[in-house]
Amino acid sequence: MVIVGGGLAGMKAIEELRSQQYDGPITLVADEEHLPYERPVLSKGYLLGSESRDSAFTHDQQWYADNRVELVLGDRAVAVDRPGHKITTRSGREVSYAKLLLATGSQPRNLRLDGADAENVYTLRNVEDADKIDAAITGLAEAGRPMVIIGGGWIGLEVASAARQRNVEVTVLEALEKPLLTVLGPQVAQVFADLHTERGVRLVTGAEVSGIETDSGRATAVTTADGQRYDAGAVIIGIGAAPRTSLAADAGLDVDHGVLTDASLRTSDPDVFAAGDIAEVDHPLLGRRVRVEHWAWANDTGPVAARAMLGQDARIDFLPFFFTDQYDLGMEYIGYLPPGSQPEVDLRGDVAGRTFRAYWIVDGAVVAGMHVNDWDNGIDPIKEIVLSRDPAKIN
Ligand SMILES: Cc1cc2nc3c(=O)[nH]c(=O)nc-3n(C[C@H](O)[C@H](O)[C@H](O)COP(=O)(O)OP(=O)(O)OC[C@H]3O[C@@H](n4cnc5c(N)ncnc54)[C@H](O)[C@@H]3O)c2cc1C
Repeated sequence: MVIVGGGLAGMKAIEELRSQQYDGPITLVADEEHLPYERPVLSKGYLLGSESRDSAFTHDQQWYADNRVELVLGDRAVAVDRPGHKITTRSGREVSYAKLLLATGSQPRNLRLDGADAENVYTLRNVEDADKIDAAITGLAEAGRPMVIIGGGWIGLEVASAARQRNVEVTVLEALEKPLLTVLGPQVAQVFADLHTERGVRLVTGAEVSGIETDSGRATAVTTADGQRYDAGAVIIGIGAAPRTSLAADAGLDVDHGVLTDASLRTSDPDVFAAGDIAEVDHPLLGRRVRVEHWAWANDTGPVAARAMLGQDARIDFLPFFFTDQYDLGMEYIGYLPPGSQPEVDLRGDVAGRTFRAYWIVDGAVVAGMHVNDWDNGIDPIKEIVLSRDPAKIN
């Protein structure tokens, strides 16, 4: 069994292979130098200083040794020879497989603008990025210089939260009328807008970024098409991520937005599987293809792929789920809102006090639900309602 990609999906697949008593060889090929780790902490506790770098790593070196996992770290798979059942890495190593799991994750999208490559312009995907942003926040706080965040999505808002809590002046430039608008809709998006503005974030919506000014290779300001100039000691680009599908595409596998798989995570080649951010799965509960870039999806699809690789009848039987933590707001969301749908949103609880539940209803069916800070009840009752699809069950 060969796993390409040392993220959460790959790591969970390895765990599952061994817990299913698979006794044969496992090789992990990972282009980062690190053992597999989990990313959510990087934009939250790690930047806040409340959680250590070690907390991101689920298993230490000994665990991989104990589980007889051959680790090929710091080496990227560059080609898959499907007829020959082997992969080749950048260093020229060849690794044979009976079954192959591709779990290559995503990479941040960048802006095609002059200045986007300046040394104090950052994206956030890995621990090195988090270290750089952590150091930048320290420097900005000491110098009293502002941070400009391009993009009011999850990562941008989480970095804004951390930077504000470390006394850095923050401007968020968001292209739409509200942050998170396409995911949450206007009412719930407003909750996040208010959360940040109350904490002192300057939130600029409808912002069309036109340039990044630099001086001696360092960004000094971000400009927008309406002629505004936002002073910047550091710039974060948080405009989303793109799945790393080129290895699969070059190998001739079926790829659309992601690597196409059936409900067992099997690609168009029966010996090759895909999990986590890159998988575009024919979802049996949703009756459509979905690609999901969230922690729980990687956590849960890795094991399904592993069981399918072992020839078991494993299939996706869970809904997409995600969470965020910003300041004192914690949120969990479950379900799937089809892109472009015009849902009715049913809000229950204390929205102004930021302890509430929300349900998205499309064509009379509950398709998604979330709670904000409702930790007494949590996500489980919401999950039951979403699975039932029945709006009458909302309470
Ligand atoms: C900062 C941050 C915060 C996040 N916070 C949340 C959150 O709060 N809630 C939530 O639900 N989700 C969150 N996510 C999303 C979640 O972390 C991802 O969905 C998850 O990491 C996906 O796991 P994965 O295993 O598919 O891919 P990844 O974690 O991206 O791992 C893929 C690995 O494969 C490696 N790789 C790529 N190509 C090759 C190759 N050719 N050969 C070898 N190795 C290769 C990559 O370098 C990488 O190490 C966050 C993501 C980030 C970056």
